[in-house]
Amino acid sequence: MSTATAERSKTIKPPKVKDQPLLIGGKWLDSVSGKTFATTNPATGETICQVAEGDKADVDLAVKAARKAFEEGPWPKMNASERGRLLNKLADLIEQHREELAALETLDNGKPYRDSYHADLPLTIKCYRYYAGWADKIHGKTIPVEGPFFCYTRHEPLGVVGQIIPWNFPLLMQAWKWGPALATGCTIVLKPAEQTPLTALRVAQLAQEAGFPDGVINVVPGFGPTAGAAISGHPDIDKVAFTGEHTTGQIIMEAAARSNLKRVSLELGGKSPNVVFADADIDAAVEGAYFGLFFNQGQCCCAGSRLFVEEKVHDQFVEKMLKKAKSRRVGDPFDMATEQGPQVSQEQFDRVMGFIDAGKKDGAKLLCGGKRSGDKGYFIEPTVFDDVQDDMKIAREEIFGPVMNILKFKDVNEVIQRGNRTNFGLAAAVWTKDVTKAHRLAKDLRAGTVWVNCYDVFDAAAPFGGFKMSGFGRELGEYALELYTEVKTVYVNLQ
Ligand code: ADP
Repeated sequence: MSTATAERSKTIKPPKVKDQPLLIGGKWLDSVSGKTFATTNPATGETICQVAEGDKADVDLAVKAARKAFEEGPWPKMNASERGRLLNKLADLIEQHREELAALETLDNGKPYRDSYHADLPLTIKCYRYYAGWADKIHGKTIPVEGPFFCYTRHEPLGVVGQIIPWNFPLLMQAWKWGPALATGCTIVLKPAEQTPLTALRVAQLAQEAGFPDGVINVVPGFGPTAGAAISGHPDIDKVAFTGEHTTGQIIMEAAARSNLKRVSLELGGKSPNVVFADADIDAAVEGAYFGLFFNQGQCCCAGSRLFVEEKVHDQFVEKMLKKAKSRRVGDPFDMATEQGPQVSQEQFDRVMGFIDAGKKDGAKLLCGGKRSGDKGYFIEPTVFDDVQDDMKIAREEIFGPVMNILKFKDVNEVIQRGNRTNFGLAAAVWTKDVTKAHRLAKDLRAGTVWVNCYDVFDAAAPFGGFKMSGFGRELGEYALELYTEVKTVYVNLQ
């Protein structure tokens, strides 16, 4: 038996989890109200454990602790290289607990363990290591101004940052936010998504073990309109970083503006065009489009959810795609053979099923799937719609589920125009062997990332973020450092 086959025949045991407190100023506490909420296993619908439910009072305490840590104590005096060492230590600890964290992520989110273990964990570890390297390389410039002055800039940490993250990649979204914030010397109040608070709390424990000073990292689980709103509207938070739905982004930006004009960065939804030309390697395009849509149960903001296929190869492409979609293994996320787990919650399940109904009503051709899978948990069959038209609801709105929409096109100019006819602009992809066409689309598609003959390639060193209503600011890479620093200009009179 090959290693891969042996691995696929394994089933991992789900971990047992105790009730969870929140973390403020280095202390693990109950919420001020004493309230808790249940976090649920999406594969069964059963409660995993209770989690302390943070609200405004808890956010206030967390902000006080973060402010104190930013202004006093060891953090502001620490050498930048020491911050880098702590980040590396955290990466090491996450690596040492890779199996435990992968299992916890799968339990809380429902994603297959083999994805948690082979994708989420390595990307998370890499992200912390990448920003560990930046910590002592963040510096300003000297500027030759007119007159007898020495002018230089300092890139200073922005201050206390609020971070609100979603449930689709809990560990990774935390790493994207914590890496640059900690490398630059900010302090943090994090609110994980109410559906998936468990790994954020466990990583916070590991950060304590790594030696981050008390108050640098605070984690307040809770709901969006309460704990989340308390962060975005807080007068003593200097910046809010958010990943989630564009409608929530609008609420957060408004609250940020009204409270204290805190800095805002938003990574929001998408409706990404994935364009397959007739001259592409069709097998590779099928593989890439399948992965680019169904990965993570379709719960990716950059999912290739408008799949434009050139008319000439449409039938051949669809036949191959259907074969793959129909044989996708849906089931127990702890079974290493499983490719697709449940949607994260009943709410998301209902939402996706609503889109499937809308697709049918609008006259798209349902080629496979479209129903619930199994009789418990939030599983949905891999679903493929063909003959999708641009104005249908399923072609306009973000579905965030395992629902593929295939649209036909005839020529380059047409597909660029139709690809851009959306309010979103997070990602796009093109499949072709023609280098001119590839670069033409890379230039003309209005999106923050364009993949050529690949999909969902990510690297901690390369920026990610959106055009238009997919948000603003770039996470990852050197670009993310700008989101967590203020530039100070200093003039020194030399006479
Ligand atoms: P989804 O609908 O996919 O859960 P959301 O944008 O609602 O996406 O959620 C992403 C994150 O935003 C979660 O942590 C959620 O609690 C938070 N959130 C939701 N509503 C608000 C709000 N009004 N203010 C601040 N944060 C919010």
